[in-house]
Amino acid sequence: MRILTLCLALLATPALAAEPAHVAFGAASTPAPGKAQVFGSYAKGCHAGAVLFPADGPTWAAMRLSRDRRWAQPELADFLVRLSNRARDAGLTGLLIGDMGQVRGGPMKSGHRSHQTGLDVDIWLRPLTTRPDAGERETLSSYDVVRGRTTLDTALWQKSSARAIPLAAADPAVARIFVHPVIKRALCRATETTPRPWMNKIRPWWGHDAHFHVRLACPSGSPDCENQKPPPEGDGCGRELDWWFTDGPYSGGSTPRRDLTLADLPEACRALVSGN
Ligand SMILES: [Zn+2]
Repeated sequence: MRILTLCLALLATPALAAEPAHVAFGAASTPAPGKAQVFGSYAKGCHAGAVLFPADGPTWAAMRLSRDRRWAQPELADFLVRLSNRARDAGLTGLLIGDMGQVRGGPMKSGHRSHQTGLDVDIWLRPLTTRPDAGERETLSSYDVVRGRTTLDTALWQKSSARAIPLAAADPAVARIFVHPVIKRALCRATETTPRPWMNKIRPWWGHDAHFHVRLACPSGSPDCENQKPPPEGDGCGRELDWWFTDGPYSGGSTPRRDLTLADLPEACRALVSGN
């Protein structure tokens, strides 16, 4: 019997290793036990001890609840409460919160390449005005503030949650924020005359025209979490930004890449889903 089990395990291993990792991570239904901890990198990683970010709070509402992507490291949940409070102080009613990650993180079957470690979140540019009901949380769309490739819809921009972006960037827990190049340009212009030491954290990237994507740095209690290199120094408002409007490769969506398999992920991540 033991030999049979061993043979089956040997047979199963290559197939399992070749299967897209989103299958195993998508099947997980409970947080990995143990203390809150991140393993690996934002686009090849996983996490233990995730918390479910509440669908409602005084200064936020979470959207697309059916996707079950409200799982976060405690640091991210704390950050969102903090940021939405500051946004309220800055005159917004509140924030609409989009995807965080899966219950054990890892690759997803659709939508994001990163968001694998409970440290990434998409925040809508449409602010919270009236609290959405269950149906609206699935159907309401955000504000796409970019027209064509290079034009800001200024009317929509004024009504948007954009003022929360500098507040997020100034937060010491934040490593990077991804926004459409048009949005970075608008923020650069709006803050030209004030000190903005956080501006290099705001990174231009196509596709982020209706939300901004906030990425926290690795929490201190996660020695196996891999930070990215810090963003280049300087505000990134000059030539680096111009590049996006001249030579920057235009991509309307994400380029297809092969699915990650469990073999692509850190050993600790394979261990988190080995029992599924
Ligand atoms: Zn994102």
